[in-house]
Amino acid sequence: MKILELLKNNSPNLSFEVFPPKTEASFESVKNAAMEIAKLRPSFMSVTYGAGGGTSKYTLDIAKDIKELHGVPTVAHLTCVSSTRETVRERIAEIKAAGITNIMALRGDIPAGLENADRSSWDYRHAVELVRELREADSSFCIGGACYPEIHPESVNRSDDIKYLKEKVDAGCDFLTTQMFFDNNLLYSFLYKIREAGITVPVIPGIMPITNANQVDRAIKLSSSHVPQRFKSLVDKFGSDPEAMKQAGIAYATDQIIDLYANGINLVHVYSMNKPDVAGKIQSNLSAIIKK
Ligand code: FAD
Repeated sequence: MKILELLKNNSPNLSFEVFPPKTEASFESVKNAAMEIAKLRPSFMSVTYGAGGGTSKYTLDIAKDIKELHGVPTVAHLTCVSSTRETVRERIAEIKAAGITNIMALRGDIPAGLENADRSSWDYRHAVELVRELREADSSFCIGGACYPEIHPESVNRSDDIKYLKEKVDAGCDFLTTQMFFDNNLLYSFLYKIREAGITVPVIPGIMPITNANQVDRAIKLSSSHVPQRFKSLVDKFGSDPEAMKQAGIAYATDQIIDLYANGINLVHVYSMNKPDVAGKIQSNLSAIIKK
């Protein structure tokens, strides 16, 4: 089922994200974790694409199993910046052959050392080029794009970021999923600004439950997210006690999700990081709110 169709459902629900293994040796354990999460019967699941594409086969294998074994709609992520046009076309054909219709079209991170390289000869420089290519390859694809409530770290300012986001949506994105954020007000302000700029597609907020103190620095570095004082206090107080930190992190994420639902957003994407227990706990915290 297409994500755009799911988004018409106006009762609160969750979707979960998993990431593929880096090596064959961990394939089974990652696949098992993804299948456990699929058993929760979320609205949909997305499977990320390893930077550089080295694990693309795993992305598709896992996405296909989630869909076929559990009947949960899936989104396969695809990045383009460090790929050739030929490779991207092959990946698109594989996604189609696997019967996956939902694709998250991403640029991907610039490979280390090439941040200041001349990009004029690259096959892809921005996600918008991949969105156009996907649209041309199959007009029935349901295409998602990434967006950044706190602007993308490489953007010089918000107005440029929103201008390029609009270009990406106009090229064919059916929906957007946000980078993680820890302060819902930043999302509400972002939504106001993009709607004002004429971006009308549905936006799925992405929430990352931070369940251990080590994750904090990594997550913040990756996303450049603002960390509210309330969240800092929680890490200060519980960071050295793994069980307490896990419980507090899940409670914080649950609280964010409830606030999003209360403000009219029905579908929230949880960066569940291949952790069925975390996904399950968040879902059970919302058991009276999410009507299956
Ligand atoms: P773009 O939309 O190309 O934007 C990147 C930057 O370029 C922004 O600053 C934008 O303003 C600017 N820009 C865009 N178009 C233009 C233009 N025409 N001219 C000048 N500047 C422009 N990474 C992975 O490797 N695998 C994944 O599976 C993955 N999944 C993700 C899912 C979500 C929901 C999010 C938010 C991120 C994900 N990422 C993933 C990370 C993503 O690849 C990085 O954030 C990357 O740096 C930017 O990707 P993008 O698709 O947003 O790029």
